[in-house]
Amino acid sequence: MILAILSDIHGNLEALETALRCIDEEKADEVLCLGDVVGYGANPNECVESVRALCSHVLLGNHDAAAIGTTSIETFNAHARRSALWTREALAPENSEYLRSLPLDYRTVDFYAVHASPNEREEWHYIVNQSIAEEAFLAFPDEICFIGHSHLPMFFREGGARGVRIPEGTVHFPKDGRYIINVGSVGQPRDNDPRLSFGIYDTAERKLKLRREAYDIASASAKILKAGLPEMLATRLRLGV
Ligand code: ZN
Repeated sequence: MILAILSDIHGNLEALETALRCIDEEKADEVLCLGDVVGYGANPNECVESVRALCSHVLLGNHDAAAIGTTSIETFNAHARRSALWTREALAPENSEYLRSLPLDYRTVDFYAVHASPNEREEWHYIVNQSIAEEAFLAFPDEICFIGHSHLPMFFREGGARGVRIPEGTVHFPKDGRYIINVGSVGQPRDNDPRLSFGIYDTAERKLKLRREAYDIASASAKILKAGLPEMLATRLRLGV
């Protein structure tokens, strides 16, 4: 099966629409979304509606949970807090209701998937180094776990030396290892490359193609400013941070 794996769309409709056009080209059988459909960006409703219509499975992210009031925003920085409160106001009741229905994880015979980390899933840990990854490996039995959350496309191999950045292109994950794989962010990339990021995963070949694609950042950031959201949320899209 060819699976498109999206994460961290963050209310960025321009990025999402471009990603969906790429998915059409890739002829994916299914689309999986690892959460954070909303938060930061100016189009939370449109993004929820589009994800709901197109994805076979959608997971709950911490920003989705913040927008429906089921996780604390105390640990959020000032910009994230402001955007969470803005998103809470902006969301149509049926879209909040939909976010409320989302699960924390998803499992198939081929892989496991969560938004942040398989251990203490609602603590939303960031898997950004090998020692944090090793702890996470203990929390799931599967060979492969897909994650989002840090917005950094990278993978960890169990027992490996360190996390490995995933470049644009195809990476093979051999059967003799266990992996935690982050597909990066559609709506707010943070690896100094402002192009959107997502994965096309071939379950039979165990190959992940990381797609990077330019999208209309000027329009997405203009909407952020027009909505009265923090200017920094617009600037960071241009910089990819
Ligand atoms: Zn996120």
